[in-house]
Amino acid sequence: MNATILALLAVLPAATTGPLSEPTLPVGPSTNLRPVVSAAGCVAPSGMASLIDQDPTDEQLPWRRGGSDKVTIYFDASKVTRAWRADLEYGSRLWNKSPCLDARVVDACPAEANCVSAAVVKTGEDGNFDAIERDGHTVGGHIDFLDTLSPAEKKNVAVHEMGHAIGLKHRKTSHVLMNGDTYSDVFTPDSTDYQNLLFDYGRQEPTGGHTNSDTDNDDDTADDLRCGTRDARRAS
Ligand SMILES: [Zn+2]
Repeated sequence: MNATILALLAVLPAATTGPLSEPTLPVGPSTNLRPVVSAAGCVAPSGMASLIDQDPTDEQLPWRRGGSDKVTIYFDASKVTRAWRADLEYGSRLWNKSPCLDARVVDACPAEANCVSAAVVKTGEDGNFDAIERDGHTVGGHIDFLDTLSPAEKKNVAVHEMGHAIGLKHRKTSHVLMNGDTYSDVFTPDSTDYQNLLFDYGRQEPTGGHTNSDTDNDDDTADDLRCGTRDARRAS
C-alpha cells in the first residue's frame, strides 16, 4: 500500500507542473473548471474525420481564423428592426459558446473587420445569407430577414442565418436548427453544430495558416452570393 501511495505522490507533481498548472492557487469549484474548458480551446476533435450530418446540396465556408484562438465576426444590425436585432444578440450569445467564435452585434463594423450586414425585407425567403468568399474562406456577407414571420420563426431564422454566416451548412437531420426548414420551436444549436465549428476552425492554425486540405474543391471559386436550400424551399 505504502509503495502505491508513494508512487502516486511521485506522479502527482509531474501532472500538475504542466502548462495548465496556474490554477493550483486557492480556487473555488467554479474557477477550477475554467482551465479545463479553455484547455480544450478551438481544437478539432480527435477522431473526427469530417463534418457531421451535412446536407450535400448546401455549401458554406468558414472564415479565416487569423492570429487568435477566436474568429471575431461583426454583425451590422443598423438596418434591422429592434426585434431582429434582439434575435441577433440572442444568437451571438449562443454561437459564442463555441470556443472558436466571437460574434458581435454592432451598429457599424470596424474597418477591415470580418463583417456581415443585415437587412429586413418584405417579401421572399424566410431568411437568406449571401456569402462573399475568397480562397476557400468566407470574407464577408449579407443576411436578409423576412419581416412577416412570427416572433418564434424570427428567432429561429435569425440564429439559423447566423449559423450560415459563421460557416455552417444545412444539416440532414430534420427539426434541428441548421436544417433547411424553418421551425417555430427550435432556437438553439446542438452539440453537432458546435462539433462542426470545432472541426472547421480547429483545423486552421491560429497564425492564420490552413492545415487542412479542403476537400470541397471550393478554394478557388468565386462562389459568392450563395444562399441555402432552405431558402429555396421556403420560397416555393
Ligand atoms: Zn439555411
